[in-house]
Amino acid sequence: RKRCIRISTGSKQLDAALNGGFQTMSINEVYGEFRCGKTQLAHTMAVIAQLPKEMGGAEGKVAYIDTEGTFRPERIMEIAERFGVDPDQACENIAYARAQNTEMQTELLDGLAANFATNEYRLLVIDSVMSLYRTDYVGRGELSERQQVLGQFLRRATQMAEEFNLVVLMTNQVMSDPGASALFAGVDGRKPAGGHILAHASTTRLLLRKGRGEERVAKIVDSPDCPEREATYIITTGGIND
Ligand code: ADP
Ligand code: MG
Repeated sequence: RKRCIRISTGSKQLDAALNGGFQTMSINEVYGEFRCGKTQLAHTMAVIAQLPKEMGGAEGKVAYIDTEGTFRPERIMEIAERFGVDPDQACENIAYARAQNTEMQTELLDGLAANFATNEYRLLVIDSVMSLYRTDYVGRGELSERQQVLGQFLRRATQMAEEFNLVVLMTNQVMSDPGASALFAGVDGRKPAGGHILAHASTTRLLLRKGRGEERVAKIVDSPDCPEREATYIITTGGIND
């Protein structure tokens, strides 16, 4: 039987709030407004996942599906330096792919099964999960079709997380669209995109927001084993930190 592993976020406070970090064999969703650090967290974890277990890692490779074109190898290299690992090696251990539409997003996920079958991978990043669904399916008329296709994608991701012992880290946007917000009850007035389908697929949900000054705040809004609580973190050259 596969054993569940936790991967550190880069922030000790946030790790403590999460009982040690994000767990493999589950979908972890991080949502919040722009510039809260979702992509920075994805970059940070893409390095930490490669580290030894004593350092909060999983000694694994990383798959990274980028839907917004915000992946930066230079950031991976800077974060690698913080943890004392070879920057080029850190980049080589990340299988990167850019998705341009939802069909490609699904194809890329399916294609990664071959990578995951090597049992070398411990983290799958999808940054962000909903952005292409929101541009490919516009308006209420297409919402039910969108949710159906999204559900298939999420079932596949869940299955892969369990079969291949992966942390699936999905970032998500908050909705500003008033029509949609009436449809999906929100959390603290900030509603993640994706509705009930995504809410049910996510094992752990984290809401990120700006705090005082440089500070950012993460709130655990849904977790199988953590109470609802907050932790602060900052974004540095070396990635997410305390
Ligand atoms: P999101 O994906 O939630 O929209 P990002 O993860 O892109 O947000 O985070 C953007 C924030 O990260 C910005 O406030 C930016 O100043 C900060 N940031 C990006 N790179 C660095 C860096 N090298 N050092 C410190 N902060 C950085
Ligand atoms: Mg981003």
